[in-house]
Amino acid sequence: MKVCIDLGATNIKGARMEKGQIVVEACSPTGHGSREAVVASLTRAIEGLLAPGTDAIAIASAGDIDEARAVCTYATPNLEGFTGFDFVAYAWETFGLRCTAINDARAALLGEMCDGAGKNIRDRRVIMLTLGSGVGGAYWTNGSLAGSPANDYARFGHYCLEEGGIPCNCGRRGCIEQYLSGRALNRMARERGLQPEGYLLQAKEGDRTACAMAADLVRLLDRALLVIANRCPFDVCILGGGVAEGIAQSLPSLLSELSFPAVFAALGNRAGLFGAYRFAEGKA
Ligand SMILES: [Zn+2]
Repeated sequence: MKVCIDLGATNIKGARMEKGQIVVEACSPTGHGSREAVVASLTRAIEGLLAPGTDAIAIASAGDIDEARAVCTYATPNLEGFTGFDFVAYAWETFGLRCTAINDARAALLGEMCDGAGKNIRDRRVIMLTLGSGVGGAYWTNGSLAGSPANDYARFGHYCLEEGGIPCNCGRRGCIEQYLSGRALNRMARERGLQPEGYLLQAKEGDRTACAMAADLVRLLDRALLVIANRCPFDVCILGGGVAEGIAQSLPSLLSELSFPAVFAALGNRAGLFGAYRFAEGKA
């Protein structure tokens, strides 16, 4: 039995998992302001899920993770002070338990490949593109997660979509994240007088401006997939994150307009938990 945690910038999702299934789950806000605040929230989340028979803690975390040592080598500004955080030492000192850690986007893809949208295409080359408040991703090839976890191999959000385009917080311009994150798309909708979260529904109802926006979304996504395919050739794209969930709910037919084979993620926001569990089981 494992306690699995998906440590994100906004929320800590957790579950007690046994034989690959979620037994109990919980979600709480990630602390902010200091490493101590984040660790305190993490400890509370884990304590709430421990039960007799728990033999390990399996973590999926935002940031760059050295998966061999379970150390965070670079934390996003939202996981304050987490650069250098050693999950193994933490789990041992706090709970006397073993611990593994994997980057959250890689965990989500691993989860989908083992238990979700990718479980019947494990012999194919698959990318996961997560369109949330940011844009993340991971790459699956030769039957396993590809690339060194601590490099920018599959940092799809910062691949260049538009030479000299919109400035990005990474210091470059024209990154995919500036066009296809939920934030970017909401901004685009507002600029066109559409509802930030509701433009796909407006398109479904036949609003012409919203239909044009949906067509632009397909064009942008197609171009992003082409940019990604040049560096990470793939057979299928699994689309996840809030934007993908919105498309799946409001206008799923958009997927068939892409020039690349694409499917929606099947595990929703639990993909990271399943991936963390599988990683701990050694199935990466
Ligand atoms: Zn960028």
